[in-house]
Amino acid sequence: MDYASTRNSSLKADSAHAIVKGLSDEGGLYVPKEIPKLSEKEILSLCDMSYVDRAYAVFSKYLTDFSDKELRHCVESAYNDKNFDTENIAEITKLSGGRYVLELWHGPTCAFKDMALQILPYLLTTSAKKTVDGKHISILVATSGDTGKAALEGFKDVDGTSICVFYPEDGVSPMQKRQMTTQSGNNVNVCAVKGNFDDCQNGVKAIFTDNDIAEQLAANNILLSSANSINWGRLAPQIVYYVSTYAQLVKDKEITFGEKVNIVVPTGNFGNILAAYYAMLMGIPVNRLICASNSNNVLTDFINTGVYDRNRKFYTTVSPSMDILISSNLERLLYHLTDGNDKLISDWFGKLKESGRYEVNDDVKKKLGELFFAGWCSDEQTKAQIHDTFKNEHYLLDTHTAVAVKVYEDYKAKTGDTTKTIIASTANPYKFGRAVYEAVGGKIDTDDEFELIAKLEKETGTKIPEPLAATRNKEVRFKGSVEKQDMPRAVLDFLKS
Ligand SMILES: *Cc1c(COP(=O)(O)O)cnc(C)c1O
Repeated sequence: MDYASTRNSSLKADSAHAIVKGLSDEGGLYVPKEIPKLSEKEILSLCDMSYVDRAYAVFSKYLTDFSDKELRHCVESAYNDKNFDTENIAEITKLSGGRYVLELWHGPTCAFKDMALQILPYLLTTSAKKTVDGKHISILVATSGDTGKAALEGFKDVDGTSICVFYPEDGVSPMQKRQMTTQSGNNVNVCAVKGNFDDCQNGVKAIFTDNDIAEQLAANNILLSSANSINWGRLAPQIVYYVSTYAQLVKDKEITFGEKVNIVVPTGNFGNILAAYYAMLMGIPVNRLICASNSNNVLTDFINTGVYDRNRKFYTTVSPSMDILISSNLERLLYHLTDGNDKLISDWFGKLKESGRYEVNDDVKKKLGELFFAGWCSDEQTKAQIHDTFKNEHYLLDTHTAVAVKVYEDYKAKTGDTTKTIIASTANPYKFGRAVYEAVGGKIDTDDEFELIAKLEKETGTKIPEPLAATRNKEVRFKGSVEKQDMPRAVLDFLKS
């Protein structure tokens, strides 16, 4: 299996190179040259397998330069009941009306980022052995909350690596901050920045492109890398859970083999829903992919009109992990929809960079309309959905999953489609306890996060997940904050210590 770049279709890289490099030299994203297929027989055989074995089956189609032993090591190190609170790894909860909630938050940080970031360190260190053997890999992450913590948990104490995470001092939820500042591990650093998420991201980008820093690190045999969601090593693990869920629903006799399903995904950077698209191309029977957004509805407009325009107001919402105006992974979808036309992709994404806007051609518009449905909802509607779903089904949604449920309800009302539907649930509700508590009718009368979620527990009869509860008594290891111009110094001090 070879990988091309979305901006250079004649490029040929193996998966180890794609994973170590992250982004290809001309700025494109790595894409598989051909999407591997799962035969009917193979899909049927997955039904009786564990998550680890299903993961192995999917990965072995994409990471053909990994040996069986290497792949086994990667999937078994990541997907076990030490890292996840269920041996199923992802759980499926059935709601009324043919809806299946796919809970992707049973990992150590209670958000779906764990599904990929628990395995990425193993994929990356295995890839590095094949390509840049002997180098120490240091991961830099700018985070608005979920990614940073998931990357820290994934890379902590992994031999040959270290990780440094930057987050905006006042830009993450109290629980997210607590999760990061109490992080354990001997190779981790967490740094609050006096600035917003963009400052963090620009600071990290500047460090990556600073020749002086590069030289100092090279002299110490250190290679900088990122755990960003455009890395193929983060996307491939996400294909697994869609394939696995289909097999599980067949096994549980919820659907018959060959029956089509809809998949709804609360979307930000377009990684998660793109993985569902890959699962479909591999042979999983899908009727519609439903893309759900919050008020930052740039994707809703794009899918409905073919015009991508990021020149719009940015909203801070109760579903912050979807507060994003540039959905990087969309580039991969468009590459496939144009049958690998790297010229068109370079043209469109060049325009996006210059003017913040591009328009796709009629052929792509037509394909988008056939494959996808897109919708969005406001914070008020998100909270109302949490309220209603709890009242009617006694199931507590987080703020991101609630957006997906609401957009799905709108889809159903509009189309009358009764196809059984998988709804990706991307976070545990206790990660966003404040908004969730308010949504179910609670009164916010305390600044203390733990007091608040104790009330949420009591009033809903649900349970705070152990990893979040545990942060209460953990020592805060990372205090204080840095000015944005001091980020390079923070990295160098950490790496030289
Ligand atoms: C990252 C994240 C998303 C968005 O996923 P994308 O792959 O970026 O589209 C949605 N919900 C939660 C809770 C997340 O952490």
